[in-house]
Amino acid sequence: MSSQDNGQVYGRVALIGLGLIASSMFWAMKRAGLAGEVTGYARSQETRETARQIGLCDRVCDSAQEAVKDADLVVLCVPVGAMGPVMKDIAPVLKPGATVSDVGSVKRHVIDAVQPHIPEGVHFVPAHPLAGTEHSGPESGFAELFDNRWSLLVPVEGTDSQAVEQLRKLWEGMGANVDVMDADHHDLVLAVTSHTPHLIAYTMVGVADDLRRVTDSEVIKYSAAGFRDFTRIAASDPTMWRDVFLTNKDATLEILGRFTEELFALQRAIRTGDGEHLHDYFTRTRAIRRGIIEAGQDTDAPDFGRGQKK
Ligand code: NAP
Repeated sequence: MSSQDNGQVYGRVALIGLGLIASSMFWAMKRAGLAGEVTGYARSQETRETARQIGLCDRVCDSAQEAVKDADLVVLCVPVGAMGPVMKDIAPVLKPGATVSDVGSVKRHVIDAVQPHIPEGVHFVPAHPLAGTEHSGPESGFAELFDNRWSLLVPVEGTDSQAVEQLRKLWEGMGANVDVMDADHHDLVLAVTSHTPHLIAYTMVGVADDLRRVTDSEVIKYSAAGFRDFTRIAASDPTMWRDVFLTNKDATLEILGRFTEELFALQRAIRTGDGEHLHDYFTRTRAIRRGIIEAGQDTDAPDFGRGQKK
């Protein structure tokens, strides 16, 4: 029976880095029987031991080279800044005809760092699932993470179309909707929808932390929904987000510039008592929230559905 007939998309998949995204991929692949065997590697002994204990991956290897040997698909699931060095390490042992992909939140930097190390005869199809939580590590993953979320494929020019289609099948099998996008456009879109909002949340929580010292814990004790949502986002992994801002610099600075202009306009409206400006602005932004709910990308529940997720 061919791998297509039994639902399998790849015979052997290797996951490099065993955190939230890799573990969710593993459980989602298992749920749908998308891979024959999944091997895994993480940098620390501690993560590898945890993975073995919880049955994350069919085989956990003690080196990245051992994990990718004979793999049909290798997915780099490490922080964006680590992609290049990891790729350089595994390049000599990749199987001819294999596909290398990644899940990094920034695409231009990953392409520039990884592509020079891709050997002749190996395909490279960068990807980015638009799904996550503020949790990290091997125990944070769950099979449903990608259900009804978007996964963006960002193939470089000249990529084998069959390799792209096979990866699309894998992401669809893991529950995602798939789109193809250009790397620079991806980085700008994500600067608006994810990167800058995270920076704003980090800033707001930082400001509140300064204030907390003045108001003796009242910020925590009486934290209202707006602030609580910011703290959830600002609890995201520091290494991952440091790398995102260091590697998606231009797009983030562009959006931050626009954000600052808008903030000044709102500040001015408050100072001058321009209620009409404030009301019009908040009416426009409310419509965006409705659009997201109508598109099935969040729920209307008071906790935004987060209570159901890990
Ligand atoms: P995570 O839970 O923090 O896991 C990261 C994994 O990478 C760990 O297994 C870690 O190993 C390993 N690692 C870290 N630094 C490394 C290095 N220098 N060399 C080799 N391995 C290293 O991270 P994650 O949330 O799954 O994120 C992984 C990737 O997915 C990132 O590129 C991120 O941008 C992207 N992404 C994240 C989200 C999200 O919301 N979290 C969403 C979409 C895409 P140890 O445990 O041994 O340290």
